Amino acid sequence: MPVTLVVGGQWGDEGKAKIIDVLAPAADFVVRYQGGANAGHTVVAGGERFAFHLVPSGILYPGVQCVLGGGMVIDPCALIAEIRSVRSRGVDVDGRILVSDQAHLVLPYHVALDEGSEKRLGNQRIGTTGKGISPAYMDKIGRSGVRMGDLRRRPTDLEELLRNRVRAKNRVLKAHGHRVLSPGKVVADVMSVRARLLKMITDTRPVLWDAVDARRRVLCEGAQGVLLDVDHGTYPFVTSSSPAAGGACTGTGLPPTAIDRVIGVFKAYCTRVGNGPFPTEDAGRDGARMREVGHEFGTTTGRPRRCGWFDGVAARTAVRLNGVTEIALTKLDVLDALDTLKVCTSYRVRGRELHTFPSDARSLDGVRPVYEAHAGWDTTSTVRKANEVPAAAMDYVEAIERHAGARISMLSLGPQRSALVRLPRRRKASARRVRVDTNSTRR
Ligand code: GDP
Repeated sequence: MPVTLVVGGQWGDEGKAKIIDVLAPAADFVVRYQGGANAGHTVVAGGERFAFHLVPSGILYPGVQCVLGGGMVIDPCALIAEIRSVRSRGVDVDGRILVSDQAHLVLPYHVALDEGSEKRLGNQRIGTTGKGISPAYMDKIGRSGVRMGDLRRRPTDLEELLRNRVRAKNRVLKAHGHRVLSPGKVVADVMSVRARLLKMITDTRPVLWDAVDARRRVLCEGAQGVLLDVDHGTYPFVTSSSPAAGGACTGTGLPPTAIDRVIGVFKAYCTRVGNGPFPTEDAGRDGARMREVGHEFGTTTGRPRRCGWFDGVAARTAVRLNGVTEIALTKLDVLDALDTLKVCTSYRVRGRELHTFPSDARSLDGVRPVYEAHAGWDTTSTVRKANEVPAAAMDYVEAIERHAGARISMLSLGPQRSALVRLPRRRKASARRVRVDTNSTRR
């Protein structure tokens, strides 16, 4: 079956866009299935740096059709602005972007509600990107959202729908002492991009079903990462959508049986932006070095990312949760020239040892990572062939395979397209025998 899913295995920013960019030349479709402009995917191509937020990163390849799936929430003006910006850099986008009529609109009141909610939460805030994503998903689940398909309504009906929604939200904003919005301005903004959007809006499901039937190659591009999944992540410090593999089905309409390859993208260390538990965080010198060498600052917000060691417990759980068939390990070069590295193999908490990432954030209170130490290596940043990878780096890679329980098929050693080594199939990565922690949620 021809569907490959690329999913972030950690807390996002794993370098998924680079892996998509490497796979896209062989794809016919690249499909986003969740999230919105809170995603920031960076690709370095031909010496140029592109940062995508809504448009799938496959757009850089002329033969690829890009699809914004129904699981997404899309700011219509931001989408048009991003398309314009990509086009202005010489990329031919015409006719190459389809937008699902099921995708929800992010409107200015969602942004205002997002800001207001974060302000109210004070130091308990989630650390959202402030792009209105969560309020848009709340409206979707609350069945009061506006969908891309609504833009097909008669202009007068669409205007009435939008005015009613803005008035209702203004009551909420006012009650919380926030700025209210002009219904006329919201209507005018949407109307100013409506005609351009209508050319792209369609029921994208049959497009993808037909593609699968015709054995064309479909790449689904996850945004954020599994540990931020609204169900499986460190709730409530999560995103409001489903980056995990299951979300690819609901967010595109593709059936699970169509997906035969799940590539989990993992950084060779861990990062997290915003608040929430992060057991292997290194708040000291090594973490600061990872941040500096790895340029760990958010693509969307510019916020410094928290950095720490590779978490084998979280990785193993992500592999099982997503049915990861292979791992793309990125940013190994960032760990070059360290004397010693650490990989977390389990957690210790209240006298017990955990081997599975707990299903709720509170169970992570007070966990202590158990580490395995690894010798460092000189450099990988110039490596372009599997047999050039230094032995110590290969030992580290194999430790990650062992703890995560899936084979590493690609090693990324720099932001450029060329900085990628495909690892030949070696002995099967033995899925580590893990004890199931049925009582992992007990405090
Ligand atoms: P995504 O959202 O998962 O696509 O990741 P981001 O784009 O937020 O972050 C990845 C960043 O790391 C981008 O700036 C990439 O250019 C860069 N990058 C990707 N792979 C590598 C790598 O192997 N080494 C280094 N040093 N940088 C990389």
